[in-house]
Amino acid sequence: MLVLVINCGSSSIKYDLIDTETKIGKCRGMIERIGAVTSIVKHEPSDEKRVKETKVIQNHVEGLKEILGFLLGPDTKVVDSASDIKAVGHRVVHGSDMFKDSVLIDDDVKEAIEQAIDLAPLHNPPNLKGIEAAMEALPDVPHVAVFDTAFHHSLPAKAYLYGIPNRLYRRYKIRKYGFHGTSHYFVSRQYYKLTLKDVKDTKVISCHLGNGASVCAIEGGKSVDTSMGFTPLSGLVMGTRSGDLDPSILFYLVEKEELPLSNLHALLNRHSGLLGLSGFAADMRDLVAEAEKGDRRCQQAIDVFTYRIKQYIGSYIASMNGCDAILFTAGIGENSALIRRKAVEEMEYLGIKLDEDRNNDVQPGELTRISADDSKIELYVVPTNEELVIAIDAAKIAQASAQSPWI
Ligand code: AMP
Repeated sequence: MLVLVINCGSSSIKYDLIDTETKIGKCRGMIERIGAVTSIVKHEPSDEKRVKETKVIQNHVEGLKEILGFLLGPDTKVVDSASDIKAVGHRVVHGSDMFKDSVLIDDDVKEAIEQAIDLAPLHNPPNLKGIEAAMEALPDVPHVAVFDTAFHHSLPAKAYLYGIPNRLYRRYKIRKYGFHGTSHYFVSRQYYKLTLKDVKDTKVISCHLGNGASVCAIEGGKSVDTSMGFTPLSGLVMGTRSGDLDPSILFYLVEKEELPLSNLHALLNRHSGLLGLSGFAADMRDLVAEAEKGDRRCQQAIDVFTYRIKQYIGSYIASMNGCDAILFTAGIGENSALIRRKAVEEMEYLGIKLDEDRNNDVQPGELTRISADDSKIELYVVPTNEELVIAIDAAKIAQASAQSPWI
């Protein structure tokens, strides 16, 4: 089945057209700077035929029209007709405590996503805009919402409750939700497939290390704890997000610098993390290059980043009372031998032993074991594919809805 996967940000749309039978993408692309004077449009039907141009795209509805225009255009044709696209899968960041699985989108689902805007003010509004725009552009196909939070629905209360008055949880749903669920789900399934392990007996730690980063403890195939929380701000140090910090720092800053709340938000979400620590860059490639030239603050940023990963790994081994494998994924996890090495160094006490050669020889896009043969806990690099998870879920739900007389 051909599924269009849509991931909308406030001024961007990313898309992938995926054949769920072959699991191969037929075309992908991105529109950035929607609503600005000029937008940047990229389409990649294949490596040879990449298109990059600037256009005026005022809103998400126009963006979706541009994408369909490209997929169906006489000169650029990727599919013969819009009816070849059988479903649309939407990445939705926050499903609050309402959605533990992907769902067919109807008015009630849209309303529930809207209700969760309070919990994800940066992410859910553009996700919803994308849903509206895509439903307008492709009104005759099923649209499915796939939530970043859904995989973490299995968290036990001891992991998702914060140590604050319980009435705040009951009144405002303040709890840990966790994110990157589709990625943690996908890489853990790749590991089970490769090792043919019985899922119910396995304990896995998945480290999604990209611009956003999180660690997830997965026991018996289910998420039992994760480093992101009420929002994607907590846990690991990220590209521009602070990760965990003592909440008293906020009171102190408000007093010392007389910062309004909106500035605090920007400080922790956009000016902190690797960027804030290094004072130089959020991008790990740039940091590694500068650190190798001897820049102390870039070296420190890398040290803080990897030390935090190590702490979460240790803590999840304790939470699960063991671990069979640690998986590294996303931009940094898949591509940086240095970061993987630093994240697991000096952990022999816990039975973690990296094989340096295997770690240095990982080829892009390949699932690779990087632990030594005598390591008690196996280490793997597992390329993630969140879009494929969204496409497969959308295809399953579209098929079920076509067969059910009740939907
Ligand atoms: P993602 O959010 O998954 O696209 O990951 C983006 C992050 O991956 C950025 O910080 C990139 O610098 C980082 N990244 C990509 N390739 C490499 C690499 N070869 N070495 C280090 N970091 C990388």
